Amino acid sequence: MTQPTQPGQPYPHLLAPLTIGGLTLRNRVVMGSMHTGLEDHAWDLPKLAAYAAERARGQVGLIVTGGFAVSKRGWLKPFAGEMTSRMDAARHRQVTGAVHDEGGAIALQLLHAGRYGYTPISESASAGRSPITPFTARAMSSKQVDRTATAFAESARLAQKAGYDAVEVMGSEGYLINQFLAARTNHRDDAWGGTATRRMRFPVEVVRRTRELVGDDFPIVYRLSLLDLVEDGQTWEETVELALLLEDAGASVINTGIGWHEARVPTIITQVPRGAWSWTTRRLREELTIPVCASNRINTPELAEQLLADGTADLVSMARPLLADPEFVAKAAQGRADEINTCIACNQACLDHVFDNVRASCLVNPRACHETEVVLLPLPAARRRSVAVVGAGPAGLSAACSYAERGCAVTLLEADAEIGGQFRLAMRIPGKEEFAETLRYFTRRLEVLGVDVRLGTRADLEELAAYDEVVVATGVEPRIPDIPGIERAVPYADALLGARELGPRVAVIGAGGIGVDVAHWLTHVPETTDEWLAHWGVGDPSLHRGGLTEPKPRESAREVWLVQRKTTPIGVGLGKTSGWAHRAVLKQSGVRQVRGATYDLVDERGLHLRVDDVPQLLEVDDVVVCAGQESVRDLYDDLLAAGREAGRTVHLIGGADLAAELDAKRAIDQGLRLAASR
Ligand code: FAD
Ligand code: NAP
Ligand code: SF4
Repeated sequence: MTQPTQPGQPYPHLLAPLTIGGLTLRNRVVMGSMHTGLEDHAWDLPKLAAYAAERARGQVGLIVTGGFAVSKRGWLKPFAGEMTSRMDAARHRQVTGAVHDEGGAIALQLLHAGRYGYTPISESASAGRSPITPFTARAMSSKQVDRTATAFAESARLAQKAGYDAVEVMGSEGYLINQFLAARTNHRDDAWGGTATRRMRFPVEVVRRTRELVGDDFPIVYRLSLLDLVEDGQTWEETVELALLLEDAGASVINTGIGWHEARVPTIITQVPRGAWSWTTRRLREELTIPVCASNRINTPELAEQLLADGTADLVSMARPLLADPEFVAKAAQGRADEINTCIACNQACLDHVFDNVRASCLVNPRACHETEVVLLPLPAARRRSVAVVGAGPAGLSAACSYAERGCAVTLLEADAEIGGQFRLAMRIPGKEEFAETLRYFTRRLEVLGVDVRLGTRADLEELAAYDEVVVATGVEPRIPDIPGIERAVPYADALLGARELGPRVAVIGAGGIGVDVAHWLTHVPETTDEWLAHWGVGDPSLHRGGLTEPKPRESAREVWLVQRKTTPIGVGLGKTSGWAHRAVLKQSGVRQVRGATYDLVDERGLHLRVDDVPQLLEVDDVVVCAGQESVRDLYDDLLAAGREAGRTVHLIGGADLAAELDAKRAIDQGLRLAASR
């Protein structure tokens, strides 16, 4: 195995080349597979090519595409992207060519979704429906299993013809290969099931047949599920046995997969501690001779370097961090790591989009997957105007940087002593500490672009008259509902900023995104990574099948009631791929939920309310208000009254534009698109 050392260079292990078969990677960074929504239609392939080329230009070692089906029955959804014909291979030449033109390397991921297929023609090891899909898969016959193993190999051969530098066999996250491996989903009694060894036969045949067709030098990466995190998953001993068989069958690299999609343990969202799963990769690496690749919640070059330097892994896979910043590797190599736009693991614009059948993008980088459509071209000198951006929340920060990138002279005026707006509150929530990285990024970006930042400056009309354009991004302020005694309550911003000390019993008015976050904050007891794993019931996979054990009860710092007027379940509006975990934490922390409330009074005894007209008193020390937000528009209205014409020289963006259903994704996107449209 190559020993990575490049003394005198930043991140010497991360930036060291690695030769795998006939392919030499320029560094150890793998862009992990992520479905973007650009894989499924031939007409989107030019966009996919531009997206991949931008990452190759940014010096990524190996890019892995989203999953391409090896057969129609392996589709993730109807008409999903596949690699099953010479026509497919020919079309993909534009993707591989674009990456090679930038000096990069790219692998095609081979996928069979099995019972995760969102199609009525899905098939699996045994008949059944997964908890996350509406269709019941039918059981494959022995002959069909045999044909499917060959289909993987044939797709790999086509990928080779398309110019791909490698393939990755998707053997994790609960897709077909996992469905063959686990007793949970494989109830066969033929040559492909019945015992652990027979259940392993399918993936081993996939790799063996692939190796036969692609020749000795073509790298085969196999994504192996190191922890299934589902009942009746594999044991550690079975996982190691499989890895050794795969190595023998011709796999060149083992990549790490953690948790099936149906697992009820979060594996990649913000609240998962950085590097939380790397111990599994380290443990596997001790058993193998081929390189292994770490993955999941690795989002900085420092952590990636450390995992390589301390022998945890030979390669590091990052998917979302390279959506967030295509120049991640180049910046690290050039000593500009402080300029990296760090992935905050929110899932809001990537996985949530994919699960909603919307093209993926990135909250902190809305250009991701829209590289050909949202372009910040430098403006001709005559159109480089002076621009005042008012408000340094996410919307204003995005607009200020985007205008400056186009060559405008930008002044950013912020009333507070710090940038960030509401985002500064968000980063105080346990598990959202990563949000601080976005403000670190913007602080540095403003500096690099030479934006004139004036903190502690409340913009007024006189000052703004000097600019050609004004962007009003004055954001939102908390709504204070009209409830008798509400002046005794604490607005969420004051609570989070520590303006008032809160007692041991607290009621929260409003259970939207912020109410849920505040309830989490109020109850949170700091935990180490090991404690976090224990709270989610993750145990040693040698002792517990699938790595699942009884969750350790969570302590709670306070007794909390979370209250809303609606009767719908609390937290239903949260993100598709993260909301369930936020709701689970509330439950684990003993947060009591009250729905269908009518508020009567806040007094020294607590919060008086009625549910179904039955009066109740929540005896609490404090009441925190999270009842939504209202736009801050006075400056905009004054500008209009003063005769500055809306839509031409004065623009309104972010929460100031629309407070309802506001989030940082919309705010940042709106700032970028405004500047791109000028
Ligand atoms: P704001 O963030 O409100 O920024 C407006 C800025 O303008 C402020 O800094 C203000 O001081 C300044 N300003 C106002 N008037 C003037 C003036 N006259 N002169 C100069 N400056 C002025 N969003 C997500 O997407 N995901 C999350 O997980 C998430 N979690 C959150 C958790 C919490 C606890 C909170 C409070 C918010 C969370 N949000 C989250 C919401 C997100 O922070 C907001 O949607 C976002 O900050 C709105 O951006 P904005 O720029 O429009 O407004
Ligand atoms: P929100 O989601 O709109 O929730 C507001 C809450 O206040 C609701 O529960 C509402 O419920 C209640 N409410 C509204 N008007 C009220 C009134 N007059 N009196 C009493 N209660 C009232 O807004 P938010 O929680 O302030 O969040 C703002 C935005 O930040 C969200 O839209 C969200 O996108 C973003 N955010 C996102 C996340 C995330 O994880 N993605 C996390 C935090 C925030 P009832 O009307 O039923 O009482
Ligand atoms: Fe990361 Fe959020 Fe961007 Fe997804 S949307 S890549 S999780 S920052």
